[in-house]
Amino acid sequence: WEKAEGRRKEERILVSVRLRPLNAKEIGRNDPSDWECRNNTTIVFKNAHSERTMYPTAYTFDRVFGCECDTRHVYDEGAKEVALSVVDGINASIFAYGQTSSGKTYTMSGITEYAMEEIYDYIKRHEERDFVLKFSAMEIYNEVVRDLLSTDSSPLRLLDDAERGTVVEKLTEETLRDQWHLKELLCVCEDNTEYRSRIHGRKQFKYSSSCCGSERASQSPSAGTRLKEGCHINRSLLTLGTVIRKLSKGRTGHIPYRDSKLTRILQPFLGGNARTAIICTMSPARSHIEQSRNTLSFASCAK
Ligand code: ADP
Repeated sequence: WEKAEGRRKEERILVSVRLRPLNAKEIGRNDPSDWECRNNTTIVFKNAHSERTMYPTAYTFDRVFGCECDTRHVYDEGAKEVALSVVDGINASIFAYGQTSSGKTYTMSGITEYAMEEIYDYIKRHEERDFVLKFSAMEIYNEVVRDLLSTDSSPLRLLDDAERGTVVEKLTEETLRDQWHLKELLCVCEDNTEYRSRIHGRKQFKYSSSCCGSERASQSPSAGTRLKEGCHINRSLLTLGTVIRKLSKGRTGHIPYRDSKLTRILQPFLGGNARTAIICTMSPARSHIEQSRNTLSFASCAK
Protein backbone atom coordinates (compact mmCIF):
# COMPACT_ATOMS: atom_id res chain seq x y z
CA TRP A 1 0.00 0.00 0.00
CA GLU A 2 2.78 2.40 0.95
CA LYS A 3 4.52 1.57 -2.30
CA ALA A 4 1.37 2.33 -4.23
CA GLU A 5 1.09 5.68 -2.41
CA GLY A 6 4.69 6.54 -3.28
CA ARG A 7 4.14 5.66 -6.91
CA ARG A 8 0.97 7.73 -7.15
CA LYS A 9 2.65 10.82 -5.78
CA GLU A 10 5.02 10.87 -8.72
CA GLU A 11 2.29 10.47 -11.30
CA ARG A 12 1.22 13.57 -13.09
CA ILE A 13 -2.27 12.46 -13.97
CA LEU A 14 -4.45 11.01 -11.24
CA VAL A 15 -7.54 9.33 -12.65
CA SER A 16 -10.50 8.26 -10.57
CA VAL A 17 -14.09 7.24 -11.15
CA ARG A 18 -17.00 8.20 -8.93
CA LEU A 19 -20.27 6.30 -9.01
CA ARG A 20 -23.25 8.29 -7.81
CA PRO A 21 -26.25 6.63 -6.10
CA LEU A 22 -29.30 5.78 -8.21
CA ASN A 23 -31.59 8.81 -8.15
CA ALA A 24 -35.32 8.80 -7.39
CA LYS A 25 -36.25 8.74 -11.09
CA GLU A 26 -34.03 5.74 -11.79
CA ILE A 27 -35.37 3.90 -8.74
CA GLY A 28 -38.94 4.82 -9.75
CA ARG A 29 -38.60 3.14 -13.13
CA ASN A 30 -36.83 0.07 -11.63
CA ASP A 31 -33.65 0.90 -13.46
CA PRO A 32 -31.17 -1.67 -12.12
CA SER A 33 -27.74 -0.72 -10.84
CA ASP A 34 -25.07 -2.30 -13.06
CA TRP A 35 -21.83 -1.19 -11.45
CA GLU A 36 -20.08 -1.67 -8.13
CA CYS A 37 -16.65 -1.07 -6.68
CA ARG A 38 -14.76 -4.24 -5.91
CA ASN A 39 -12.12 -2.42 -3.87
CA ASN A 40 -10.77 1.14 -3.90
CA THR A 41 -9.20 0.80 -7.34
CA THR A 42 -11.48 -1.48 -9.36
CA ILE A 43 -14.98 -0.97 -10.66
CA VAL A 44 -16.88 -3.96 -12.04
CA PHE A 45 -19.88 -4.52 -14.25
CA LYS A 46 -22.17 -6.67 -12.11
CA ASN A 47 -24.34 -8.17 -14.82
CA ALA A 48 -21.77 -9.40 -17.29
CA HIS A 49 -23.89 -12.48 -18.07
CA SER A 50 -26.77 -10.27 -19.24
CA GLU A 51 -24.80 -8.18 -21.71
CA ARG A 52 -23.61 -9.54 -25.04
CA THR A 53 -20.59 -7.35 -25.57
CA MET A 54 -16.88 -7.38 -25.99
CA TYR A 55 -16.47 -4.71 -23.33
CA PRO A 56 -14.30 -5.38 -20.27
CA THR A 57 -16.17 -6.24 -17.09
CA ALA A 58 -13.60 -4.71 -14.72
CA TYR A 59 -11.69 -1.44 -14.92
CA THR A 60 -8.84 -0.34 -12.68
CA PHE A 61 -7.92 3.27 -11.91
CA ASP A 62 -5.89 5.15 -9.29
CA ARG A 63 -9.08 5.29 -7.24
CA VAL A 64 -12.71 4.37 -7.60
CA PHE A 65 -15.42 5.75 -5.33
CA GLY A 66 -18.67 3.88 -4.76
CA CYS A 67 -22.01 5.57 -4.16
CA GLU A 68 -21.48 5.41 -0.39
CA CYS A 69 -18.38 7.66 -0.58
CA ASP A 70 -18.85 11.31 0.33
CA THR A 71 -17.15 14.18 -1.49
CA ARG A 72 -14.70 14.73 1.38
CA HIS A 73 -13.36 11.23 0.76
CA VAL A 74 -13.26 11.83 -3.02
CA TYR A 75 -11.32 15.04 -2.40
CA ASP A 76 -8.88 13.45 0.07
CA GLU A 77 -8.07 10.50 -2.15
CA GLY A 78 -8.63 11.83 -5.64
CA ALA A 79 -7.79 15.54 -5.72
CA LYS A 80 -6.08 16.84 -2.57
CA GLU A 81 -2.46 16.18 -3.50
CA VAL A 82 -3.02 17.80 -6.91
CA ALA A 83 -4.84 20.81 -5.43
CA LEU A 84 -2.16 21.46 -2.83
CA SER A 85 0.68 21.28 -5.35
CA VAL A 86 -0.17 24.89 -6.32
CA VAL A 87 1.35 26.18 -3.07
CA ASP A 88 4.65 24.76 -4.30
CA GLY A 89 4.31 26.74 -7.51
CA ILE A 90 3.20 23.77 -9.62
CA ASN A 91 0.36 24.31 -12.08
CA ALA A 92 -2.58 22.02 -11.40
CA SER A 93 -5.93 21.24 -12.91
CA ILE A 94 -8.80 19.25 -11.51
CA PHE A 95 -11.73 18.41 -13.69
CA ALA A 96 -14.80 16.27 -13.74
CA TYR A 97 -15.82 14.34 -16.84
CA GLY A 98 -19.08 12.52 -17.37
CA GLN A 99 -22.55 12.65 -18.87
CA THR A 100 -25.14 15.19 -17.74
CA SER A 101 -26.57 14.40 -14.29
CA SER A 102 -23.74 12.01 -13.43
CA GLY A 103 -22.52 14.29 -10.60
CA LYS A 104 -19.86 16.61 -12.06
CA THR A 105 -21.21 19.79 -10.47
CA TYR A 106 -21.96 18.01 -7.19
CA THR A 107 -18.40 16.65 -7.07
CA MET A 108 -16.59 19.79 -8.22
CA SER A 109 -18.42 22.15 -5.88
CA GLY A 110 -17.39 20.06 -2.87
CA ILE A 111 -13.84 19.69 -4.11
CA THR A 112 -13.51 23.43 -4.74
CA GLU A 113 -14.71 24.16 -1.22
CA TYR A 114 -12.30 21.70 0.43
CA ALA A 115 -9.36 22.76 -1.74
CA MET A 116 -9.91 26.44 -0.94
CA GLU A 117 -10.26 25.73 2.79
CA GLU A 118 -6.95 23.89 2.75
CA ILE A 119 -5.16 26.44 0.61
CA TYR A 120 -6.29 29.29 2.90
CA ASP A 121 -5.31 27.22 5.92
CA TYR A 122 -1.84 26.73 4.40
CA ILE A 123 -1.55 30.46 3.70
CA LYS A 124 -2.45 31.27 7.33
CA ARG A 125 0.24 28.91 8.59
CA HIS A 126 2.88 30.44 6.27
CA GLU A 127 2.77 34.14 6.99
CA GLU A 128 6.35 34.49 5.80
CA ARG A 129 5.18 33.85 2.24
CA ASP A 130 3.09 36.10 0.01
CA PHE A 131 0.23 34.61 -1.94
CA VAL A 132 -2.17 36.19 -4.39
CA LEU A 133 -5.24 34.19 -5.36
CA LYS A 134 -7.18 35.23 -8.43
CA PHE A 135 -10.38 33.82 -9.82
CA SER A 136 -11.87 33.85 -13.28
CA ALA A 137 -14.49 31.68 -14.91
CA MET A 138 -15.57 31.07 -18.45
CA GLU A 139 -17.78 28.83 -20.49
CA ILE A 140 -16.84 27.35 -23.85
CA TYR A 141 -19.87 26.56 -25.95
CA ASN A 142 -19.63 25.78 -29.69
CA GLU A 143 -15.96 26.82 -29.50
CA VAL A 144 -17.05 30.29 -28.33
CA VAL A 145 -15.57 31.55 -25.07
CA ARG A 146 -17.66 33.74 -22.75
CA ASP A 147 -16.94 35.36 -19.40
CA LEU A 148 -19.03 33.91 -16.59
CA LEU A 149 -18.24 36.72 -14.15
CA SER A 150 -19.65 39.34 -16.49
CA THR A 151 -23.20 40.08 -17.55
CA ASP A 152 -21.76 40.88 -20.97
CA SER A 153 -21.94 37.63 -22.92
CA SER A 154 -19.92 38.76 -25.97
CA PRO A 155 -17.50 36.17 -27.33
CA LEU A 156 -13.93 36.57 -26.06
CA ARG A 157 -10.83 36.14 -28.20
CA LEU A 158 -7.83 33.99 -27.39
CA LEU A 159 -4.50 35.74 -27.78
CA ASP A 160 -0.99 34.37 -27.80
CA ASP A 161 1.06 36.26 -25.26
CA ALA A 162 4.84 35.90 -25.47
CA GLU A 163 5.20 35.53 -21.69
CA ARG A 164 1.95 34.00 -20.53
CA GLY A 165 1.07 31.79 -23.51
CA THR A 166 -2.61 31.66 -24.50
CA VAL A 167 -4.68 34.28 -22.71
CA VAL A 168 -8.39 35.03 -22.90
CA GLU A 169 -8.68 38.69 -23.85
CA LYS A 170 -10.80 40.83 -21.47
CA LEU A 171 -11.62 37.92 -19.16
CA THR A 172 -12.56 39.26 -15.71
CA GLU A 173 -10.01 38.41 -13.05
CA GLU A 174 -11.00 38.95 -9.41
CA THR A 175 -8.43 38.96 -6.63
CA LEU A 176 -9.85 36.80 -3.85
CA ARG A 177 -10.21 38.25 -0.34
CA ASP A 178 -11.05 34.92 1.28
CA GLN A 179 -12.96 31.68 0.67
CA TRP A 180 -16.34 33.37 1.23
CA HIS A 181 -15.53 35.79 -1.55
CA LEU A 182 -15.01 32.77 -3.80
CA LYS A 183 -18.47 31.46 -2.86
CA GLU A 184 -20.01 34.79 -3.85
CA LEU A 185 -18.22 34.68 -7.20
CA LEU A 186 -19.34 31.10 -7.84
CA CYS A 187 -22.94 32.25 -7.27
CA VAL A 188 -22.44 35.02 -9.85
CA CYS A 189 -21.19 32.42 -12.36
CA GLU A 190 -24.15 30.16 -11.67
CA ASP A 191 -26.61 33.03 -12.15
CA ASN A 192 -24.99 34.04 -15.43
CA THR A 193 -24.96 30.44 -16.72
CA GLU A 194 -28.62 29.92 -15.82
CA TYR A 195 -29.67 33.24 -17.31
CA ARG A 196 -27.86 32.55 -20.57
CA SER A 197 -29.15 29.04 -20.98
CA ARG A 198 -32.68 30.43 -20.42
CA ILE A 199 -32.43 33.25 -22.95
CA HIS A 200 -30.69 31.16 -25.57
CA GLY A 201 -33.05 28.24 -24.98
CA ARG A 202 -30.18 25.87 -25.03
CA LYS A 203 -29.35 22.91 -22.98
CA GLN A 204 -27.04 23.97 -20.23
CA PHE A 205 -23.48 23.02 -21.02
CA LYS A 206 -20.93 24.65 -18.90
CA TYR A 207 -17.26 24.58 -18.44
CA SER A 208 -16.31 26.67 -15.46
CA SER A 209 -12.66 25.97 -14.84
CA SER A 210 -13.56 22.44 -14.04
CA CYS A 211 -16.58 20.80 -15.60
CA CYS A 212 -17.00 19.19 -19.04
CA GLY A 213 -20.12 17.50 -20.37
CA SER A 214 -19.35 14.35 -22.33
CA GLU A 215 -22.47 13.83 -24.42
CA ARG A 216 -21.91 12.24 -27.75
CA ALA A 217 -23.32 14.09 -30.75
CA SER A 218 -25.86 11.34 -31.38
CA GLN A 219 -27.19 11.46 -27.82
CA SER A 220 -27.23 15.17 -27.15
CA PRO A 221 -30.50 16.88 -28.08
CA SER A 222 -28.89 18.12 -31.26
CA ALA A 223 -30.58 17.25 -34.51
CA GLY A 224 -30.32 18.95 -37.89
CA THR A 225 -28.81 22.37 -37.32
CA ARG A 226 -28.10 21.47 -33.72
CA LEU A 227 -25.78 18.73 -34.88
CA LYS A 228 -23.25 21.47 -35.52
CA GLU A 229 -23.39 22.30 -31.82
CA GLY A 230 -22.71 18.69 -30.96
CA CYS A 231 -19.71 18.64 -33.29
CA HIS A 232 -18.31 21.83 -31.78
CA ILE A 233 -18.88 20.61 -28.23
CA ASN A 234 -17.09 17.46 -29.19
CA ARG A 235 -14.19 19.31 -30.80
CA SER A 236 -13.03 20.53 -27.38
CA LEU A 237 -13.84 17.25 -25.68
CA LEU A 238 -12.33 15.06 -28.37
CA THR A 239 -9.17 17.16 -28.39
CA LEU A 240 -9.04 17.05 -24.60
CA GLY A 241 -9.28 13.24 -24.83
CA THR A 242 -6.46 13.10 -27.39
CA VAL A 243 -4.25 15.46 -25.39
CA ILE A 244 -4.80 13.56 -22.14
CA ARG A 245 -4.19 10.22 -23.85
CA LYS A 246 -0.90 11.42 -25.33
CA LEU A 247 0.23 13.01 -22.07
CA SER A 248 -0.62 9.92 -20.05
CA LYS A 249 1.47 7.77 -22.38
CA GLY A 250 4.36 10.13 -21.71
CA ARG A 251 4.54 11.12 -25.38
CA THR A 252 7.01 13.85 -26.06
CA GLY A 253 6.02 14.39 -29.71
CA HIS A 254 3.29 16.68 -31.01
CA ILE A 255 0.44 17.22 -28.57
CA PRO A 256 -2.48 18.91 -30.34
CA TYR A 257 -3.31 21.55 -27.71
CA ARG A 258 -4.06 24.07 -30.43
CA ASP A 259 -6.86 22.05 -32.01
CA SER A 260 -9.50 23.36 -29.59
CA LYS A 261 -10.12 26.36 -27.35
CA LEU A 262 -10.42 24.23 -24.24
CA THR A 263 -7.02 22.61 -24.70
CA ARG A 264 -5.35 25.88 -25.73
CA ILE A 265 -6.53 27.48 -22.50
CA LEU A 266 -5.71 24.46 -20.35
CA GLN A 267 -2.29 23.79 -21.89
CA PRO A 268 -0.18 25.19 -19.03
CA PHE A 269 -2.29 23.22 -16.54
CA LEU A 270 -2.02 19.90 -18.37
CA GLY A 271 1.44 19.66 -19.90
CA GLY A 272 4.97 20.30 -18.65
CA ASN A 273 5.26 19.66 -14.93
CA ALA A 274 1.60 20.34 -14.27
CA ARG A 275 -0.44 17.94 -12.12
CA THR A 276 -3.90 16.85 -13.20
CA ALA A 277 -6.72 15.10 -11.36
CA ILE A 278 -9.52 13.72 -13.49
CA ILE A 279 -12.65 12.57 -11.75
CA CYS A 280 -14.96 10.67 -14.06
CA THR A 281 -18.51 10.62 -12.76
CA MET A 282 -21.11 8.06 -13.75
CA SER A 283 -24.56 6.82 -12.93
CA PRO A 284 -24.82 3.13 -12.06
CA ALA A 285 -28.17 2.83 -13.92
CA ARG A 286 -28.67 0.32 -16.76
CA SER A 287 -30.31 3.00 -18.91
CA HIS A 288 -27.01 4.93 -18.97
CA ILE A 289 -24.85 1.96 -19.90
CA GLU A 290 -23.61 3.40 -23.17
CA GLN A 291 -22.62 6.75 -21.63
CA SER A 292 -20.99 4.98 -18.70
CA ARG A 293 -18.94 2.81 -21.07
CA ASN A 294 -17.82 5.98 -22.90
CA THR A 295 -16.84 7.62 -19.62
CA LEU A 296 -14.87 4.52 -18.57
CA SER A 297 -13.09 4.37 -21.90
CA PHE A 298 -12.13 8.06 -21.58
CA ALA A 299 -10.86 7.33 -18.06
CA SER A 300 -8.93 4.26 -19.27
CA CYS A 301 -7.25 6.28 -22.03
CA ALA A 302 -6.19 8.87 -19.46
CA LYS A 303 -4.30 6.21 -17.49
P1 ADP B 1 -23.85 17.09 -13.70
O1 ADP B 1 -23.14 18.31 -13.23
O2 ADP B 1 -22.93 15.99 -14.10
O3 ADP B 1 -24.87 17.35 -14.76
P2 ADP B 1 -25.01 17.12 -11.05
O4 ADP B 1 -23.79 17.29 -10.24
O5 ADP B 1 -25.86 18.33 -11.26
O6 ADP B 1 -24.68 16.48 -12.47
O7 ADP B 1 -25.85 15.95 -10.38
C1 ADP B 1 -27.17 15.62 -10.79
C2 ADP B 1 -28.02 15.37 -9.55
O8 ADP B 1 -27.52 14.22 -8.84
C3 ADP B 1 -27.98 16.53 -8.57
O9 ADP B 1 -29.26 16.67 -8.01
C4 ADP B 1 -26.99 16.07 -7.51
O10 ADP B 1 -27.27 16.64 -6.24
C5 ADP B 1 -27.17 14.56 -7.50
N1 ADP B 1 -25.90 13.87 -7.20
C6 ADP B 1 -24.83 13.79 -8.02
N2 ADP B 1 -23.85 13.06 -7.47
C7 ADP B 1 -24.31 12.67 -6.25
C8 ADP B 1 -23.75 11.89 -5.19
N3 ADP B 1 -22.52 11.34 -5.26
N4 ADP B 1 -24.51 11.70 -4.09
C9 ADP B 1 -25.75 12.21 -4.00
N5 ADP B 1 -26.34 12.96 -4.97
C10 ADP B 1 -25.63 13.20 -6.08
